[in-house]
Amino acid sequence: MIKKYSFLLLFAGFFLLLSCQEKTAYRALLITGQSNHNWQGSAPILKTILDQTKLFTTDIAQTPKEKGDMSTFEPNFSKYNIVVMDYNGDSWSEKTKAAFLEFVKNGGGVVIYHEADNSFADWKEYNEIIGLGGWNKRSEKDGPMVYYKKNELVVDTTAGPGGTHGPQHEYVVRARKADHPILKGLPVQWMHGKDELYSKLRGPAKNMEILATAYADTAYRGTARDEPMLMTLTYGKGRIFHTAMGHVGKDATHPATECVGFIVTLQRGAEWAACGNVTQPIPLDFPNAAGAVYRPEYKEITLDEDFDKILTYSIDKSTKYYTDLQARIRKVSANPAALLELEKKMVDILKNSAATAEGKKLILRELAWMGSDYCVPAVQELLKNPELQEAAAYTLERMKGPRKI
Ligand code: ZN
Repeated sequence: MIKKYSFLLLFAGFFLLLSCQEKTAYRALLITGQSNHNWQGSAPILKTILDQTKLFTTDIAQTPKEKGDMSTFEPNFSKYNIVVMDYNGDSWSEKTKAAFLEFVKNGGGVVIYHEADNSFADWKEYNEIIGLGGWNKRSEKDGPMVYYKKNELVVDTTAGPGGTHGPQHEYVVRARKADHPILKGLPVQWMHGKDELYSKLRGPAKNMEILATAYADTAYRGTARDEPMLMTLTYGKGRIFHTAMGHVGKDATHPATECVGFIVTLQRGAEWAACGNVTQPIPLDFPNAAGAVYRPEYKEITLDEDFDKILTYSIDKSTKYYTDLQARIRKVSANPAALLELEKKMVDILKNSAATAEGKKLILRELAWMGSDYCVPAVQELLKNPELQEAAAYTLERMKGPRKI
């Protein structure tokens, strides 16, 4: 009898394990192949951003080229949890359009990325899915403009073209639904990387929530309104996450998509579209309103990387790891136990004979304001080092009465 039960338990455990794995592995289909943007650049970027969450496996589906035979484009949507739209081009076949709508109505998730809200101006249901769109002759016939003005939501039916933007610049994104799972735990405002600021978007805006806006400053030919940047919608049983940000053009770098705010909201929005919830932790490098934070390789820098790079730092090298360490210190500045953990690693660098003098100087500069009694012996030791004695003396002077541990 016991044997039989343990066999059953083992059996049940096996299936539980299988179903848990299934729950955390979403399949994403990224559709691209035509765009007025650099889709050859943006598609691999979006795949990298999604797959690094370890929640998604992303396949890229490429449509035929402009004016190509669209009847050959028949992706099997049913294999996927979400469809990511990085497409602005020719109409799909009626069969593929119907299959896409079936997918969304039955609970498939959708991510609308930047110029995908320019696409399919004449496809009524697509415009219901994106909520708001621009360009391609959109006007008042396609729906109102929706934005915030003086903290009030405005649905503006004034006639005029849909979609505009001024020159690219960094701008503050402001949460309007801070309790939504996609935004929960993020700062209420953060500086977004250099990007276009889509404005005057128009559409049916049904079943739509504006999660975050950005003020379109007239200094950048803006509308003087808070324009919608992040939106969620529902269509049938499907959930849609729409980000108007993330321009990728022909330039060598793509600051809009390297922005941590863009990366993290895309990752969280995609998870929400897939399952209605967000399980990802907030990364340490998420920006606040003081300045944009970029991840040039799309990956979060780890603390170990920071210390590895500071160990071999010389003045001709990038300071981004030092800046990252500074951000980590600032984030935990009210938590003495977490500060001490960082301080211990910093002292290890001071004691490490392989570390460069420049690297040690960076550490000393930080210890000057956040060091505790713990670091004092190691800093005093450096007074004997001709190259570092000045920096060490400065740190000890500034540390007068350091934090007790
Ligand atoms: Zn763009």
